[in-house]
Amino acid sequence: MGLHLIFVNLNTTFAAKLTSTMRTDRTFTMLKPDSVEKGYIGAILEKITGAGFKIVAMKLTQMTQSDAETFYAVHNERPFFGELVEYMTRGPIVAAVLEKENAVQDFRTLIGATNPADAAEGTIRKMYAASMGENAVHGSDSDENAEIESQFHFAGREIF
Ligand code: UDP
Ligand code: MG
Repeated sequence: MGLHLIFVNLNTTFAAKLTSTMRTDRTFTMLKPDSVEKGYIGAILEKITGAGFKIVAMKLTQMTQSDAETFYAVHNERPFFGELVEYMTRGPIVAAVLEKENAVQDFRTLIGATNPADAAEGTIRKMYAASMGENAVHGSDSDENAEIESQFHFAGREIF
């Protein structure tokens, strides 16, 4: 077997291992600047823990312009990108890692649709979001992004 094939095999094994060890019981959230400004931190955390999520990392922090541009890079061609970066950097946020079985999907259900006008009754966005642009909370959309976003905001020793 040539050196090239050995590396292909190692990479395949590594990729398979990564996929098979990807956690499915954690997600990442931010209580966005509007939630903090309006004094909703306590009420929203109550909803989150009341729904069975355990907080395994949490802090009050503020994103820089470059942080927000990196975090939301997937949206950088969208017309709302400039406003999104301005909104997300204008004040402190609460960043947190949450643990629960089926965390990503269950948390997306708990927060509701991106546009609060479309969000189901009782969801966090229905209760606390003002508009599509200022929609109170973030929730990761996949296990892989949950991991990437958690590592973006927290060092390993800050996640319990
Ligand atoms: N957003 C916006 N206008 C839009 C779509 C999204 O201002 O038309 C903002 C909104 O704050 C949203 C964020 O960009 O939460 C990321 O958009 P995404 O489609 O990923 O929505 P989410 O995953 O947060 O529900
Ligand atoms: Mg999203």
